[in-house]
Amino acid sequence: MNAGMPRESLENKKKRVLKVIARLREEYPDAHCALDYTSPLELLVATILSAQCTDERVNLVTKKLFKRCRTARDYAEIQQEELEELIHSAGFYRSKAKSLKGMGLKLEEKHQGRVPKEMDELIALPGVGRKTANVVLGNAFDIPSGVVVDTHVGRLSRRLGFTKSENPVQIEKDLEKIVPQKNWILFSHWLIWHGRALCKARKAQCALCPIVELCPQIGLS
Ligand code: SF4
Repeated sequence: MNAGMPRESLENKKKRVLKVIARLREEYPDAHCALDYTSPLELLVATILSAQCTDERVNLVTKKLFKRCRTARDYAEIQQEELEELIHSAGFYRSKAKSLKGMGLKLEEKHQGRVPKEMDELIALPGVGRKTANVVLGNAFDIPSGVVVDTHVGRLSRRLGFTKSENPVQIEKDLEKIVPQKNWILFSHWLIWHGRALCKARKAQCALCPIVELCPQIGLS
């Protein structure tokens, strides 16, 4: 935010975020999760694999993986070495393979092989943190349990003056105070799509930006 700008009230931020939402909804009507999946289990696996890895790479890996592992039991029973080989190019393959096997075992033992719809149950699975659980609940079950904060969402939220924090947990809290809950799921997709299209990490293309007059970087100065 520009130096010297008066502190913006929560009420004002709430009004501004609604305008941002309206514009981004128009701009990115097809915004959605970039990971390929056809079931909650596939989305859970893809999200675990997406740590420190691009969505494109994950989609390449899961194309093969989902043919070999179709159920939670398949993940519980596959040999660690074979799984490591299958997911190797997603990086951190040893710990990710361990998480996937542990996840498969726990789903089999506690949830009849199904992915639970509760935050507490999800974050009790190996390799699943709050962010992964929010992705799964929001996109596989349409449950707005929280705003998913990745690097795009963090960067844009700071540029837009919706948070000052670098900490994803705090950013999530700041966003949840101003974004209506019904928009939590799509809000992160809109920011991610906008971050990829124009508000890039290295250089924001503000001259082309459809929300420029709503952004403290330029429009609100
Ligand atoms: S005006 Fe610039 S910094 Fe603000 S959202 Fe648009 S591209 Fe990003």
